Amino acid sequence: MAKSTKYNRIAIIDKDKCQPKACNYLCHRVCPPVRMGEDAIEITNRDNWSQPIINEELCTGCGICSNKCPFGAIQIINIGVDFSEPIHQFSINSYRLYSLPEIEKGYITGMIGRNGSGKSTALNILSGELIPNLGNYKEKGNIDKVIEYYRGKNIQKHFKDIKNKEIKVSYKIQKVEDIPKMFNKKIIDLLNMTTNDKDNIKEIIKELELEKIINKKTTEISGGELQRIAIAASLLKKSNIYFFDEYTTFLDIRQRFKIAKLLRKKINPEKAIFLIEHDLAILDYLSDFTQIMFGQKNAYGMCSNKKSTKKGINEFLDGFLKEENIRIRKYSIDFASLKITQDFKKNILTEYPDMKKKLGDFELDIKSAEIRKGEIIGVIGPNAIGKSTFIKMVSGEMKPDNCNINNNLKISYKSQYIELDKEKTVEELFLEKDIDYDIFNSEIKGQLDLEKIIQQKISELSGGELQKVAIAYTISKNADIYLIDEPSAFLDVEQKLIISNVIKSVINKKEKSALIVDHDLLFIDQISDRVLLFEGTPSIKGYANEIGTIENSFNKFLKEQNMTFRQDPQTKRPRANKEGSQKDKEQKRDNKYYYSL
Ligand code: SF4
Ligand code: SF4
Repeated sequence: MAKSTKYNRIAIIDKDKCQPKACNYLCHRVCPPVRMGEDAIEITNRDNWSQPIINEELCTGCGICSNKCPFGAIQIINIGVDFSEPIHQFSINSYRLYSLPEIEKGYITGMIGRNGSGKSTALNILSGELIPNLGNYKEKGNIDKVIEYYRGKNIQKHFKDIKNKEIKVSYKIQKVEDIPKMFNKKIIDLLNMTTNDKDNIKEIIKELELEKIINKKTTEISGGELQRIAIAASLLKKSNIYFFDEYTTFLDIRQRFKIAKLLRKKINPEKAIFLIEHDLAILDYLSDFTQIMFGQKNAYGMCSNKKSTKKGINEFLDGFLKEENIRIRKYSIDFASLKITQDFKKNILTEYPDMKKKLGDFELDIKSAEIRKGEIIGVIGPNAIGKSTFIKMVSGEMKPDNCNINNNLKISYKSQYIELDKEKTVEELFLEKDIDYDIFNSEIKGQLDLEKIIQQKISELSGGELQKVAIAYTISKNADIYLIDEPSAFLDVEQKLIISNVIKSVINKKEKSALIVDHDLLFIDQISDRVLLFEGTPSIKGYANEIGTIENSFNKFLKEQNMTFRQDPQTKRPRANKEGSQKDKEQKRDNKYYYSL
């Protein structure tokens, strides 16, 4: 049987990166055990340039092959603890999953963890889409063996139910942008496929504000609309377990909370909801329990015990899981230390007067304000409310209807939907003349770990890698104002923190300004010096008052959502109060919808 890992190391070879023909098996040539005549690295078919195989039981974990491989294809992980057999492994020298999360009827369970740690694999297993092979990657998974494997454990019942088809699963996929490839239909036809209950369809259309798009095809709508269609289809399906894999992607902040409230309304003793989420404010607001997936990207994943949401998020931020006695990160994430203000932010970069603009049926009204050097302005509000038009007017690129702006400010812009030349490698992208190499080399390249992907083509990058490259590219350019639209999309919590620190340090060093449009409340709280709140009705009328403090702007926004946030005493992070709780009532009474630091 091809079971791996009784040994305390894991060897991973990235099959997409490994190119034996180009390196002539350098790993094999430098491996000390191989040089001593042991098959720590095997080559099964040299004539056909087959990829090497690392025998984990013979490998000493020295890491030489990993350091020498010219394509960064090898990961050697000395795990230090004796893991049991994996629950699932895809193939030899590949990712493996060691434990699964729990699902409980009547509750919402949230899962948090790094990208690439295997959250989606765990979800595929729990939904019955993938039967785990218990580490025997040469065979397909067998449900009877899985049931036997979990004898005496709570989760055994779940797999029995999968076998007996007693579990009806509804699964909101992660990559909603793939929906048009699967269904090129009218939205209403797609929803009709999920249920015959016309009243229910009507209700969901109303709750998710889909009225205007139901007669459009999936190819004709935006990412945020696709996300809401995917959520609608999942909720309409008659099921007892609902999986939501990153439902907040492409949704604006108002929609995120609106759908969170809707999901809370849907939970009952016969249903379980399980969600994977990187927006901590949403995860905190929505989940009854939290489980943490930890491990190493694309190498292995393990799931923590089920914890209360407060405890789970705090331990995740702290980087140490108490009951498991495992450190998952070398550093702890402390929100208080992330907020440092500097004096030069008092110097003004530009000022703008009251501005008005009419574009077709859409009207925009902006109150005058100033933007200071070295400051980051968080921008919140719905999609299609005029945020891009606003920045074009400030820069001088677009003329307001009521005044002239004689600015000649250079803007560096990262759009929500990333547009980079897919044929270029990451390295080629940064060869452009506009790049500030001092900043790129000292503040960006190392901090964002770009070296590892520098030879890869843009088209080969994952969503998170592409986001990092797009942000790095935008802030490496010489400009006066950096407009960064949705930098937190596709990033996990740790990546968001790193990105936030890098953007802050670049903007401070350059003494320029950045406007960050994002829908993740904690990210905006963490990265911003001040906040600009857009209000109104998307595509019809948008308006923004003066740029305010984080506290005042969030207070206003949250009052409109009828939600309150308090501060967690341990991590200093903002925490959503449960609706109707003592704290929620007190804060509403005192008109303090948002407590910040
Ligand atoms: Fe060459 Fe790296 Fe593949 Fe080994 S793993 S054959 S060093 S590309
Ligand atoms: Fe050989 Fe060392 Fe690589 Fe293991 S880590 S395969 S012993 S070179």
